Amino acid sequence: MFIRYQTKAVLLKEQARGEGDILLSVFSQQYGKIEILARSLRKVKSKLRGETELFSLVLLEYIQGKHYKTLTNISRVRDYSQLKKTPAKLKVAFQVSRTLIGLIENEERDKKIWELLLETLGQLDDYQLEQGDSYFNFSNKILLKNHWPLKLIYHYFFWSLIEILGYKPELYHCALCQKKLRPEGLYFSFRERGVLCNHCFERLEEGDKKDCLEIEPNLIKIVRLLVEKQWSLLQRLQVTEKEKIAIDGLLNIFA
Ligand SMILES: [Zn+2]
Repeated sequence: MFIRYQTKAVLLKEQARGEGDILLSVFSQQYGKIEILARSLRKVKSKLRGETELFSLVLLEYIQGKHYKTLTNISRVRDYSQLKKTPAKLKVAFQVSRTLIGLIENEERDKKIWELLLETLGQLDDYQLEQGDSYFNFSNKILLKNHWPLKLIYHYFFWSLIEILGYKPELYHCALCQKKLRPEGLYFSFRERGVLCNHCFERLEEGDKKDCLEIEPNLIKIVRLLVEKQWSLLQRLQVTEKEKIAIDGLLNIFA
């Protein structure tokens, strides 16, 4: 006898598997990040097909086999249709999905991550785009330049996730000597999870220095706002093009 499981979930990724099968990566309300095999989804015009669209909130049922979880039923709960219609929003949603899949290791229920994911998709769906969005194949650079508020939603998601996972960076004191940071010669260290003072950075081995990124004091202030979820302040903050690229770069290395 198979046990049947049921949970709400967000579809994050799909990969072709063998003869018309698709492996779905989802984040579920009950079991966290899991992979579920949807059999013959590509081959047969299955009644499920329309429901398996990325970034949909769905109710799904599956059975746990020896090797796989196999999808038995799926129905849509929320569509996030504005998100799916808008390339810039979709691009950010893919970044969210990559980050979530990349940073979460275990199949484990996590209420905070579940709520953060739904909040983030809701924000992307609801956001009213000011600039036109006609590029289907645009770069992250264009996204940063034309759609900073959308990128802010992603950054907010990223730093919130980092905090939930217990990696909140030290941004006020040197992560090594614990001295209060002065706004000069500062480095962000991914290994030490925080900012290092110039003195501590200089004493690192050459190899360890490569894992650090020089960071402008102004950038640290913006990262503090992100980590501390000062959402309304962030939306009003004037951020230069250079700073936008630097903040985004910081997070690419971290992730
Ligand atoms: Zn130090």
